[in-house]
Amino acid sequence: MVRVRFAPSPTGHIHVGNVRTALFNYLFSKNRKGVFVLRIEDTDLERSSIENENIIYEDLNWLGLNWDEGPNKGGDYAPYKQTERVDIYKKYIDDLLEKGFAYYCFCSKEELEQEREKNLKEGKNPIYSGKCRNISLEEARQRIAGGEKAAVRFKVDESEVKVKDILKGEIDFPTSMFGDFIIVRPDGVPVYNFVVVVDDALMNITHVIRGDDHLNNTPKQILIYKALGFSIPEFAHIPMILGPDHSKLSKRHGDTSVNQFRENGYLPDAFFNYLALLGWSHPEEKEILTKEELIDAFSLNRISKSAAVFDFDKLKWMNGVYIREKSRDELFELAKPFVTVADTNSVDEEWLKDVVYSVKDKITTLREVDEQIKIFFEQSSPDDESMELLNLETSPLVLQSYLNEIEGISNLTADKYKEVTKKIQKDTGAKGKALFMVLRIGLTGQRTGPDMDKIATLLPVSEQVKRIRYILGLIKR
Ligand code: GLU
Repeated sequence: MVRVRFAPSPTGHIHVGNVRTALFNYLFSKNRKGVFVLRIEDTDLERSSIENENIIYEDLNWLGLNWDEGPNKGGDYAPYKQTERVDIYKKYIDDLLEKGFAYYCFCSKEELEQEREKNLKEGKNPIYSGKCRNISLEEARQRIAGGEKAAVRFKVDESEVKVKDILKGEIDFPTSMFGDFIIVRPDGVPVYNFVVVVDDALMNITHVIRGDDHLNNTPKQILIYKALGFSIPEFAHIPMILGPDHSKLSKRHGDTSVNQFRENGYLPDAFFNYLALLGWSHPEEKEILTKEELIDAFSLNRISKSAAVFDFDKLKWMNGVYIREKSRDELFELAKPFVTVADTNSVDEEWLKDVVYSVKDKITTLREVDEQIKIFFEQSSPDDESMELLNLETSPLVLQSYLNEIEGISNLTADKYKEVTKKIQKDTGAKGKALFMVLRIGLTGQRTGPDMDKIATLLPVSEQVKRIRYILGLIKR
């Protein structure tokens, strides 16, 4: 049974890179009918908080990345928060100390810093000398009982560690890169490389799928797996995400965290689809894929071996595709929080649904709804270029004929609007811009906007009459 996990540290909204990791884990587990575990890595007390934890749940829930086991859900391997697992870690630390795989280190910060500088100066790797290796456990415990502070270091005896990775193949890491590394800090807090192993092993994680920024940690983790007699999971380290300029994706490229995409009007299913294709591709190169289709098609071996480039334009395009596929009611529900030009509680809801739906082909994000539907709520003043069109000889005739045709009609249909414009064309001789653009300016004050037949049918006739009269008043005679 496949068991994978997403293990975020609750330090804020989830970054695109991390949420893609969560998504790949999710897709892989669902494809293999396995289990997706959420584990909160909150041992960094200064940066972790309950608020940040809730933010993670919110981000994952928005995307529909539902975990099978984890906080707020439970499971056979609870607890799923590291701060609630400290007793477990303590037991395994003691185990390593007793068996001689780890030792207490009393070296002071200053001493270690001096050693580091000396090594660097001599052109050596800045690794620990192993000075405290020979202090017996008994003596160390006495010193600690006497009030001294000590870190715990893992004793590295091998000269190299082989990491087998599904995506990267086999990599040999010389241990001279890191030496005897710390697994518990002098303040008693166990470090990531240690707790992650204990958790993954005890939670029976079969595949560790994470960003390749963690690849250098993996040899240390493998040494701990071996020392504790745990079986080693499979690893898949996913290449990073780059910005459009091929540097590491960061804030200066634009939105980078899940909440920003949500707040800027991206649809969760579109974002889900886009993220899945960020470093993974469908066997038939299909691009618009539902969650179910992605689950069906997902496999680790189609993850790209090189870094993925975040294409903001493509995401926008894809979001537009999803927007156009929504029903009138679905789109309204999604767009409602973005509507500020109207009070959604006082305006007739059915009418507003029609209004929002009428602009669906014009928008690529929900944020653009407001700007597009604005003309249904206010008439803007024509700019100079619009005034030029209004000052054409035929323009007053066009507008006046339109007025004459629609006054008294209670419900203007799209067919009737077409009929009216044909008639005006015949009567006034105006066509093209001189007809349609002039009518548009007459009704909205602008030269661009939603389709005219939609405006004509959705804007109440009485309002149209008012607007046309206002515009007629602006035209020089
Ligand atoms: N808390 C770590 C992170 O967010 C987890 C890394 C891992 O998946 O092992 O980077």
